[in-house]
Amino acid sequence: IHPEPCIVVIFGATGDLTRRKLLPTLAHLMHAHPQPQGFVVVAFARRPFTQEQWRQLVVQALAENSPPELGLDEEARQSFAQRTFYCQANLNESTGYQKLAQLLEQLDQQYQTHGNRIFYLAIPPDLYAPVVHRLGENGLVHRPHGGHRANHHGPWSRVIIEKPFGRDLPSAQKLNREIARILHEDQIYRIDHYMGKETVQNILAMRFSNGIFEPLWNQKYIDHVQILVAEDIGIGGRAEYYDEAGAIRDMVQNHIFQVLCLTAMEPPVAFEADAIRDEKVKLLRAIPPLTPEEVAHQVVRGQYTRGTINGQEVPGYREEEGIPADSSTETFVALKLFIENWRWADVPFYIRTGKRLPKRSTEVTIQFKRVPHLLYKPSEARELIPNRLTVRIQPEEGITLKFGAKVPGAAQRLKSVDMTFSYASAFQMEPPDAYERLIADCMLGDSTLFIRRDEIETAWRIIDSITTAWQQMPAESVRPYAAGTWGPAEADELIQRDGREWDTP
Ligand code: NAP
Repeated sequence: IHPEPCIVVIFGATGDLTRRKLLPTLAHLMHAHPQPQGFVVVAFARRPFTQEQWRQLVVQALAENSPPELGLDEEARQSFAQRTFYCQANLNESTGYQKLAQLLEQLDQQYQTHGNRIFYLAIPPDLYAPVVHRLGENGLVHRPHGGHRANHHGPWSRVIIEKPFGRDLPSAQKLNREIARILHEDQIYRIDHYMGKETVQNILAMRFSNGIFEPLWNQKYIDHVQILVAEDIGIGGRAEYYDEAGAIRDMVQNHIFQVLCLTAMEPPVAFEADAIRDEKVKLLRAIPPLTPEEVAHQVVRGQYTRGTINGQEVPGYREEEGIPADSSTETFVALKLFIENWRWADVPFYIRTGKRLPKRSTEVTIQFKRVPHLLYKPSEARELIPNRLTVRIQPEEGITLKFGAKVPGAAQRLKSVDMTFSYASAFQMEPPDAYERLIADCMLGDSTLFIRRDEIETAWRIIDSITTAWQQMPAESVRPYAAGTWGPAEADELIQRDGREWDTP
């Protein structure tokens, strides 16, 4: 990549996301693409550090959090740390922004970064709007003249905003309105790291660069679709955030809907930001909000209780540090949705996600219809299941097609077998990190993989129909499941009622 030189300002530089993800990603970007000027990082937070202390912290964070395949040796860590500058201030006070402006000007001179800036908001979500407002007030963002980026020359400013983007439709709309007062939509990069995953992007490549899938990719041939995002971990250190969000806001509204969009959207007219995002919005608009009756029948909530994962005893959700003992936040959701358009009429999409499930796995399963007439006796076809295409997003990234084959021998016996593509063996490498791809795209001014304003609002409209119905339901409708199991029994009943089974990895 050859982005223009720029300064990346991280707001929230002493936080968890910066330490675990942003610093290793930026260090690797700098290491892998050395440029004469390249980019400079300004780290902004309240904690008092001297420049030296901060740089030591960077080196330590890189040592602890960068995976060996990034190849960041001690020299690379040190040389990245020298390109980072700490700015200590409170984001709620104007003085901090003035201090920042001075530092940025000085660094522009020193590193020829031409006034180009990326502001990464790795801060608590209630600060997103106030910080953008103050950036504007203090003249820290350049607003493009003439509207569209294509007409814009001169220094640019872009702002990356983390999840959660709102907690329902009204709050997301309010946030969008507030930041739009300062920033043009082209300057706003709402990040969903799932979109940075190679395997998620490969859904588009698979669908739209091969002749054999798309003719079958519709309600004539597809029986149903499943999307699974299973985590074996609990809530980590993020109790306050998680208890407020729950599984539906933490996973479904963003990551799962993104995967759903790429799996089900119509072919875009071009591989361009707006062409792709137009199709995603069209798809989301075809999902009608659920009625309270549908929520009662088609959505299952669960919360994990004490159990065992990989031989280790783990506490229940309500026993986790920072979680109220009477919390009714869901840590598991299973639901059935329909997409009301020509392609997908009457094809159910089953979604399942949860924490403390038996293993970490994200995958999409496309299950095809059975043949119209089976030549074989039921006893001969006992081990045959309908064709299934499974896209494994993580781990063991790849794609598997299940199809029927004859078991060798004189008897007629059929069995489902696998044809498998594995990323690791086909490309002899692990897929690169999602954050790196997205930050690099932002440097290049490419917002294809970021979430547009209307997309986020359309997604919330669907989620709100579910969470609003939940408010009228008793707390007992959140069903317990033991940690280390695949969720409450009601989730199995949800799909079994339709004569189907979960495709469990
Ligand atoms: P965190 O560990 O709590 O860090 C928050 C950061 O914000 C700290 O650096 C803190 O610095 C800074 N900060 C807070 N108030 C400030 C103020 N008034 N002035 C200046 N700095 C202030 O949070 P996090 O987990 O890194 O998450 C950051 C954002 O990313 C959140 O919106 C979160 O939802 C999102 N996110 C996080 C993850 C993750 O894995 N952690 C994943 C996805 C999205 P000081 O304490 O030094 O002031």
